[in-house]
Amino acid sequence: MKIKTKLTLGVGLLFLLIILLSLVSGGYILMLKADTNNILKANYNSLNYSRKMLLSLDEETEDKTAEKRFRTNLRLQNKNITEPGENELTQRLNDHVAEMNNTSKNREHFRKLIRQDILQIMQLNMTAIQRKSQLADQSSNDALFWIFLTGSSCFIIAFVLLVQLPKNIAKPIKELTNSIRQIASRNYKQRVAFEGHSEFGDLAKSFNSMAEKLDEYNSTQLAEVLNEKKRIETLINNMNDPVIGLDEQGKIMFVNNEAIHILNLSKSELMGAAAKELALSNDLMRTLLRDLPTETSPQKTANAITILNNGKEQYFEKELITIATTHTEESEQQSIGNVIILRNVTSFKELEFAKTNFMATISHELKTPISSIKMSLQLLERKDVGAVNEEQMNLINSIREDNERLLKITGELLNLTQLETGNIKLYMQSSDPYQIINYAVEAVKKEAEHFGVRIQILTEKNLPNLSADTDKTQWVLINLLVNAIHYSPAGETVTISLKESGSQLRFEIKDQGDGIADEYTSRIFDRYFQVPGISKPGTGLGLAICKEFIEAQGGTIGVESSCGQGSTFFFVLDL
Ligand code: ADP
Repeated sequence: MKIKTKLTLGVGLLFLLIILLSLVSGGYILMLKADTNNILKANYNSLNYSRKMLLSLDEETEDKTAEKRFRTNLRLQNKNITEPGENELTQRLNDHVAEMNNTSKNREHFRKLIRQDILQIMQLNMTAIQRKSQLADQSSNDALFWIFLTGSSCFIIAFVLLVQLPKNIAKPIKELTNSIRQIASRNYKQRVAFEGHSEFGDLAKSFNSMAEKLDEYNSTQLAEVLNEKKRIETLINNMNDPVIGLDEQGKIMFVNNEAIHILNLSKSELMGAAAKELALSNDLMRTLLRDLPTETSPQKTANAITILNNGKEQYFEKELITIATTHTEESEQQSIGNVIILRNVTSFKELEFAKTNFMATISHELKTPISSIKMSLQLLERKDVGAVNEEQMNLINSIREDNERLLKITGELLNLTQLETGNIKLYMQSSDPYQIINYAVEAVKKEAEHFGVRIQILTEKNLPNLSADTDKTQWVLINLLVNAIHYSPAGETVTISLKESGSQLRFEIKDQGDGIADEYTSRIFDRYFQVPGISKPGTGLGLAICKEFIEAQGGTIGVESSCGQGSTFFFVLDL
């Protein structure tokens, strides 16, 4: 049944009950009123007339008005015959009254008879009143019974309606609300069962069909997700690089075969285990968890780590990635775990070692013949060896320049091989910064003259000594000065300045050259990097070696430059 019909019927029934109760009560009240009226009209009036007639009869002798009143009341009584036998009695009273009026004697006798008649009429009416009163009593009892019966029925029915009707409407709504909550918490198997053709029935049908569709959609989505998961698992498992996935609590979510192999643990020992607990007994895990990214620095690539695998040393580059997601209706990203990827760089490392060894051998081997060429050139320049003409002198100069360049390159390559093999040896000592600057300026003097560049020294006075490797710092300064001279237009000035900043000394080499475009400033300290489009000869190694030398001494190196504004290279070392 529809809710609307239910409400109409419920309210209608209540309405009918009210009408029924009103009718029953009204009917009985009217009946009782009729009974009272009847008694009043039929019997009370007769008693009243009779009483007045008796009073008039007693007064008749003295007063004529009494007689008149008697007649009036007798007339009224004649009109108010209501009880069986009353007519005869009244008739007899009329007769006796007439007889008394027609005779002048024996009036007292008639008066007695008349009194008897009146008393009989009174007696008759009083008996009738008693009877009718009993009847009215009975009627009022009946009325009470029926009104009580109807009232009680109405109350029971209204009470049932009061309890049942809201329950009837609210129950399905509650059930529906619960079902919607179930669906919201992804229980797509939830159904509602409202029978009948009410609005709730229709609603239930729509709800169930919606839940069914969601269930179907969820199953297909789930299947797709499971397939996707399998695909990713296969992919990760077939990767040659070890991969370990951690959830936000640091528990291992996935681990591929390579990772299982190098960690030397079984899959069951790893899956679901807290990585930090494993790290207590597994050295490699401890190394892997080091530098785990935080939310502020989500991605980190650490230096290569060496792992003994199958009795062979292997090199891996560790990459730590934070998996971050943005939840629905949220703007901030939340970390939901980390992935540790170990890139096997053994083959590259081996190639690098081979290349470094090769470079070291070549540069070492080349150094001796180049030095002997240099010596031979110096001999050739001496007058006592023999006179050389101008053309020959030019050739000798050109050979000397090329030889210098070769010597520089082999020197740089040797330095580089030292760095790459980790054989860099520092001789830290108390070094005089003024001496370092003077030495470097002296070393590049000729170069500066050759390029027509002036060198200006601006240093703060009485600066303390540095704790540094003097030779390497001089090498760095010379390198930066040579670059500044090479990249400055002729006639310009290269300025060297030295200042104290905190517990450090800052060396600055400022030139008036073309400067370096922003996109290259971060790369010029990379090995073999040369700014594209620059035709000056070079290896792209100088700045890379400078960086290694300065950082090895615990200092920092950098550049401030922009296109057309000149460059300022600086390095900072501790006192
Ligand atoms: P190179 O031996 O080729 O000079 P460097 O490592 O010394 O190698 O320098 C790397 C690159 O940085 C150079 O190729 C050059 O383009 C740029 N560079 C270095 N110093 C300066 C400078 N003072 N002004 C402009 N560019 C410079």
